[in-house]
Amino acid sequence: MCGVVGAIGVQEAALTLSIMLHALQNRGRDGCGISVIQSKDGGDWRFHCETFAGTVAHSITGKVLKRLPGDSGIGHTRYATAANSDGRENLQPLFFQVDKRPFAIAHNGNFTNIEALEATELRGTPVNTASDTERFLRLILREHRSERSLPQSVARALSKMQGSCSAVLHTPGSLLAIRDSTGNRPLYWGKTGSGYAIASETCALDAIGIFEVQEVPPGTVMVFAKNREPQLVELPKQPLRMCTFELLYFGFPTSTIFGVPVSQFRHELGRKMAQLHPVVGDLIVGIPDSAMELAVGYASGLNGKLPNEDVIKRRHDTGRTFILQRQKMREMAVSRKFSFNTPLIRGKRVVLIDDSLVRGTTSRGITDSLRRRGAKEVHWVIPSPPIVASCLYGINTANSSQLLAAHMSVEEMRQEITADSLSFLSLQDFQEVITSQGMDKEHGCYSCMTGEYWH
Ligand code: AMP
Repeated sequence: MCGVVGAIGVQEAALTLSIMLHALQNRGRDGCGISVIQSKDGGDWRFHCETFAGTVAHSITGKVLKRLPGDSGIGHTRYATAANSDGRENLQPLFFQVDKRPFAIAHNGNFTNIEALEATELRGTPVNTASDTERFLRLILREHRSERSLPQSVARALSKMQGSCSAVLHTPGSLLAIRDSTGNRPLYWGKTGSGYAIASETCALDAIGIFEVQEVPPGTVMVFAKNREPQLVELPKQPLRMCTFELLYFGFPTSTIFGVPVSQFRHELGRKMAQLHPVVGDLIVGIPDSAMELAVGYASGLNGKLPNEDVIKRRHDTGRTFILQRQKMREMAVSRKFSFNTPLIRGKRVVLIDDSLVRGTTSRGITDSLRRRGAKEVHWVIPSPPIVASCLYGINTANSSQLLAAHMSVEEMRQEITADSLSFLSLQDFQEVITSQGMDKEHGCYSCMTGEYWH
């Protein structure tokens, strides 16, 4: 998973981009980067790009911003999926110079037909990285060589790709927002002064004072230039497959994604779960930070109260345990990540709410930690269907072989995480909540919950 941002016609674009990227840190902490174009008199320009392995706050300092002058640019925050998280060459924005003209791209999503393309369209094309984004950019540039306009070239290249794509592309004079026809990944834009900004999530546009936001429609290449209305190139229609894991876990709570306010959606999921799977306990605790809204919904649905916020606290900036590659490191990371309020826990029946159970590392680690501190019972409530298949479209959900629900019953999973009880929401009930929030459930992607892939 990744976050993308873009801006054009904005003074000190890099500063604006860095604020938006910081707001999208939830979408990836493996790396980040910004590229900018500085327009000069007489149609001349300068291009700069800086990428880093690390978080936005640590990497994009005031010193870095000084090296990134310009009035348009794009940015990326990286969560490795297609390529290895360690490779610096896989950081984005990724760019090529063609006849000294830069073309830079930042992509969120995952293409699934790269091998087939390498055997056909891209045969013989040299590549520098393992990244699917590089293949996409190379295809765009090939199309562009045959005198097509850039937006038309992007549309043609995208129509040859399968998988998911929300991306931003910039070159001197224009900034493009690209969203594939399934709409699998979110992408938004808004107006700022005489310019425009684009971001994966509305929370990033809000962070720079854009409150009137619009969705980049699925199957559209939008072209933005300073002092001009955006132009649209449309792609052939396909069934919509909007990622419901964005709503459940990835999206920032203050964002609206696919027309659904994320925090409200999570409250409703929690409330539904309280109605269908009420668990009697002394403490109702959301796993910080991603399950806090679910816990609010669950507690209010159960007894009209708020969850107990001070039982488990998240320590500062430890990253996501899930992203760490080795099992041992992940186990240690649970105790590095969470701090437990032992006096509150002793002798209590604790009901824990989390958004998902993937490998079971977090739930097993937390159950152990609570028992060692004297908890009388530990119950897990997951207001979503079990994750039974890995995601092909941009979310790092581990290999199917590592997913507990891929090969265990709910009872076996309960034993594995050593809990007193474990409950999930059925797919049907999950979809009911989607519908109640105004999104057509047929427009959602549920591949990780069903194992049914669409490309
Ligand atoms: P696990 O510990 O492997 O069962 O993973 C479940 C935990 O990881 C939950 O607390 C989730 O909030 C979190 N999580 C779920 N999916 C992801 C993901 N794709 N990337 C990072 N963390 C995740």
